[in-house]
Amino acid sequence: MMPLLPSTRHADYETGTIAIEHSGWLPEQHLAMHEGLADDIDTDIAVIGSGLAGASLSLHLAERGVKVVTLEARQPGNGASGRNAGHVQTFLENLEPLHAWGDRGKRFAAFFMEHRNIVFDLCAKHGIDGDAVKSGMVEAAYRPHTALAKKAALWKAFGYNVDIVTAASLRELLGTEKYRYGIHWREGGRVNPYLFTNGMISAAVRHGARVFGDSPVIGCHREGQRWRVDTARGSLRAQRIVICTNGHAGNLFFPELARTQYPLVACGMATKPLSPALLDIINPARVAMTHYPTGLYPMVIDGRNRLVTATIPHPCRAHDAKTYFAYFLRYLHRIYPQTRNFEIELGAYWTGITANSSSVYHADYPKLYQVDDGVLALMNLGTWGNVMGPQLGLSLAQSLASERLDDCVLPLERPEPVRFQRLFEFKTRHLMIPVARVIDRINLA
Ligand SMILES: Cc1cc2nc3c(=O)[nH]c(=O)nc-3n(C[C@H](O)[C@H](O)[C@H](O)COP(=O)(O)OP(=O)(O)OC[C@H]3O[C@@H](n4cnc5c(N)ncnc54)[C@H](O)[C@@H]3O)c2cc1C
Repeated sequence: MMPLLPSTRHADYETGTIAIEHSGWLPEQHLAMHEGLADDIDTDIAVIGSGLAGASLSLHLAERGVKVVTLEARQPGNGASGRNAGHVQTFLENLEPLHAWGDRGKRFAAFFMEHRNIVFDLCAKHGIDGDAVKSGMVEAAYRPHTALAKKAALWKAFGYNVDIVTAASLRELLGTEKYRYGIHWREGGRVNPYLFTNGMISAAVRHGARVFGDSPVIGCHREGQRWRVDTARGSLRAQRIVICTNGHAGNLFFPELARTQYPLVACGMATKPLSPALLDIINPARVAMTHYPTGLYPMVIDGRNRLVTATIPHPCRAHDAKTYFAYFLRYLHRIYPQTRNFEIELGAYWTGITANSSSVYHADYPKLYQVDDGVLALMNLGTWGNVMGPQLGLSLAQSLASERLDDCVLPLERPEPVRFQRLFEFKTRHLMIPVARVIDRINLA
């Protein structure tokens, strides 16, 4: 039986806002809490939201000597950053959208490649115990795919240590004979995103940032040349505000941000620690695994020897842990038939919200919005926040510290409402994912 935890209403699962205590990434010992803002204080830059984006921005601003205050509605890592699947992906899925950015697109790609190891680098630099392991990644398929061959060749040409692998190597890496073709990325790997986010916040505090938890921002108003940011018990005056609230953009302040994105609820699952016998069978190389082309059940084995995976829940049934765990086990048993003889138990189930900038899978690049004079928003990190959050926090901090916003690797855009906002979620949950499950089950892809 899973322990009874706070907030288990179906509606909270559906909106990805169930209490963070459900997330399998929380350590057994609680982390230190950040107290709420209860004064009227002053700063240069106010960061709203402390997920991967807000935490990295706060850290890199503080490191550059900028006076920064971070306000978080709950505690750091409360959003998607404490709920994701733990994959650290060091390549970009689709370079096409960058072409429209001209020279900036080239700079973005170069910056991404230069800082592709940022998760591991930050953990090493700041002594963050985030279970970050550069174990590599494998995209595994049942049969050859030209698209995979092209992708491997492209990134090899960029200097990546990456290869197409076939049955024998895949058997050695993953411990299964089911996969016959794939890409072995020797960089990337896994991280505990909750610990990593909190680690960045602790490092930011050590560098002088002030971080307040339990301080949802309820209003932002201009006061002369500055901005006043209100919470229920305190307020903050700042020259600039940077909003990093991701899919929780439906705030009372700057409500237009909520219309700039395609939200999608996703769920995560962690098993109880696997027995030594199972650990011998499943994924012996401990790479971050994904199934190509459906992307169903990305999988890591974490430092606590648990399988962690994620999927997209059925419409109106995001609470239904049993169903998704059963799907996952069916997949696992297909890939590793020997595991049928073992009991594998669900240890944690949770949901979270992703915010995408595009309704086309893999074309969703994050956004930097100029919301008002002195108000920016760094949002829509899609499904690759573990690397994008830290990288874009770094790039934006560099630009803000040098007062050269134009140097940021993201183009500065005005918030524009997207069209047919709910269609993306409808399409994904009603059509794409159910079809992908069937295709996978009958071994078509
Ligand atoms: C199930 C799932 C699996 C995923 N798997 C992966 C993966 O394997 N690899 C990967 O790279 N990415 C993955 N992602 C995506 C990744 O988690 C996100 O891109 C990333 O966490 C977004 O970070 P963020 O800082 O923009 O937002 P968030 O982490 O959502 O942070 C926003 C913060 O803002 C706070 N906030 C909101 N409103 C207010 C307010 N009014 N005042 C103050 N604070 C406020 C929230 O409490 C929250 O802490 C996954 C996401 C999900 C949900």
